[in-house]
Amino acid sequence: MGYLSGLFRWRKVVSKEYQSFDDYPVCTDENLWTEYTSRYAVFKIWSPVAEEVRLNIYDRGHGDDLTESFLLDQKENGLWKIKLRGDYKGIYYTFSVKYKGRFLDETPGIYATAVGVNGHRAMIIDLEDTNPEGWHNQSRPKLNSFNDIVLYELHVRDMTIDPKSGSSFPGKYIGLIETGTKNKEGHCTGIDHIKALGVTHVHLLPVFDYFMVDEAALHNPQFNWGYDPHNYNTPEGSYSTDPFNAEVRIKEFKQMVMGFHKNGIRVIMDVVFNHTYLTENSLFNREVPGYYYRQAKDGGWSNASGCGNETASERAMMRKYIIESCKFWATEYKIDGFRFDLMGVHDIETLNLLSEELKKIDPTIFVYGEGWTGGSSPLPEALRAMKANTLKLTDIAAFSDDMRDGVKGNVFDNKSTGFVSGAKGLEETIKFGVVGSTYHPGIDYKKCKYSKKHWAPKPSQAIGYVSCHDNNTLYDKLIISRPDAPLADIRKMHRLANAIVLTSQSVPFLHAGVEMMRTKYGEHNTYNLPDDINRIEWNWKTQNHDIFDYYRALIALRKNHPAFRMPTSEMMGEKLRFFHLNDGGAVAYQVSENANGDPWKNIIVVYNANPKSLHFALPEGVWRVAVKDAWIVPEGIEDVSGNISVPPISMMVLFQ
Ligand code: CA
Repeated sequence: MGYLSGLFRWRKVVSKEYQSFDDYPVCTDENLWTEYTSRYAVFKIWSPVAEEVRLNIYDRGHGDDLTESFLLDQKENGLWKIKLRGDYKGIYYTFSVKYKGRFLDETPGIYATAVGVNGHRAMIIDLEDTNPEGWHNQSRPKLNSFNDIVLYELHVRDMTIDPKSGSSFPGKYIGLIETGTKNKEGHCTGIDHIKALGVTHVHLLPVFDYFMVDEAALHNPQFNWGYDPHNYNTPEGSYSTDPFNAEVRIKEFKQMVMGFHKNGIRVIMDVVFNHTYLTENSLFNREVPGYYYRQAKDGGWSNASGCGNETASERAMMRKYIIESCKFWATEYKIDGFRFDLMGVHDIETLNLLSEELKKIDPTIFVYGEGWTGGSSPLPEALRAMKANTLKLTDIAAFSDDMRDGVKGNVFDNKSTGFVSGAKGLEETIKFGVVGSTYHPGIDYKKCKYSKKHWAPKPSQAIGYVSCHDNNTLYDKLIISRPDAPLADIRKMHRLANAIVLTSQSVPFLHAGVEMMRTKYGEHNTYNLPDDINRIEWNWKTQNHDIFDYYRALIALRKNHPAFRMPTSEMMGEKLRFFHLNDGGAVAYQVSENANGDPWKNIIVVYNANPKSLHFALPEGVWRVAVKDAWIVPEGIEDVSGNISVPPISMMVLFQ
């Protein structure tokens, strides 16, 4: 077959004029993924405005080696298609869409599942070839309920790029699952560390193919968080050992997922459908100019992402795209959940349809997101998947910025402090966090920091957290907002902050490294800063082993005690009661009657954020202390009754 061999086929050239994007014919039921068998391959693209679509075939993922070119056939509803006979495995390809008389830049196709270096060209592969041995027999680790989840937010490169991690594959997918690695002092690192900590899920910062790291120049250290999407359905190349070969990143990504699964840890992907890195010349715009994005009143790109554009999930083919993409990752890669970046940019209906579709694959796939936008949007607020609309979302959770800022201060204001760092009047906000942002009769919502009413229908629809990749680390925030505080107090505040998160009924979320007092040296927006700011330094584990031990024991306490994981607002209303305290800077509550099947009959939790001891009058009877100051002893430290003293800036847990 020669160059442009398909060109002379008869075709109908149609000039298309539509009044609006809503008039475009759609093919929502069409399978748009490239199909491969050893006998033929089928290439498809949806572009109702295309005048012609050309398929370009290459030997490699880069360079000037076009070997063949074909024109696709125009089908119904904007679909273009070509079936090529023969075995095309291993070839690279792109599409060129002719629009208003000229060919737009080549696109690998937004449904590309394998791409070469820097994601310029797609590759025909047999995905079956990319499966590690035993892939089909492995299963997702057991998860009974979303309430049991403990999230750990991780960047692939951060975890192993420090030489002190002892990793053989620093910064790579397969580095994340290497067992037996240790720091100089002999403390375990990498996946052994994550496993020892006891979290149930790792949440990976973007691992789909993003734009800004040059995969062809990995000899130069480069860092990016990855919120700059390019190809949504293929792994990022810079975390693979060979980004030039499209198969390698897929194989290694699957090895990573399988490695986590084998160690009992589920894997969540951070997905960034709200915008694309490129705007005018994005892959979406090279296929159907304008369609996949929302427009501002002046006709320009609207920008609810704050990144130059925002996608239009309410349009049929964008909605289909988001749903198909997540389904693809959940099946082909056995991904266990999705964290939606700027979820508020998307419409509620799309997210609910997605939730429904994912449940058909596996009802334990977890979906959550940032219930806000990064700017104004033409999508009406009532339709947005915002935190305030979580009551309309089906089993989809939103991050609680109420808890985040209530516990340790506003992330946008350096001076701002929170409950643990000495701010006054945040007791109701902390209580709101305890009940997972749901309704509870013991809370005066008018006194809460941001939300003035409950927004989560059940506690598993709220993500409880105090820090994440954005903004300062917890340690840095405490240091910056409390320059006067001695380090010993900072450590106590640090412990208390996540003690609140891990005993609250929402789904707890930890920023990787917080369990060893991670610092980013005061930098807050580190998305493209060097490794030496972003990496986890493994000497921290040795220096702060007491903090690690505390976190690990807290996670174990949560996992062993269903009373901290009640499924409904009704159950909390019945079993959880807040104490009235005369002192500010403290919150106390009791969970009673073996709540949610807990082995402990009654549990009392006291958070004392004051720099002095808190006097607390216990209810009748003898109580056993399980957590006091830095100590967590599940079988109990001592028995107490009557008036007790809760140490400064600490959590106390007692039980009967
Ligand atoms: Ca990339």
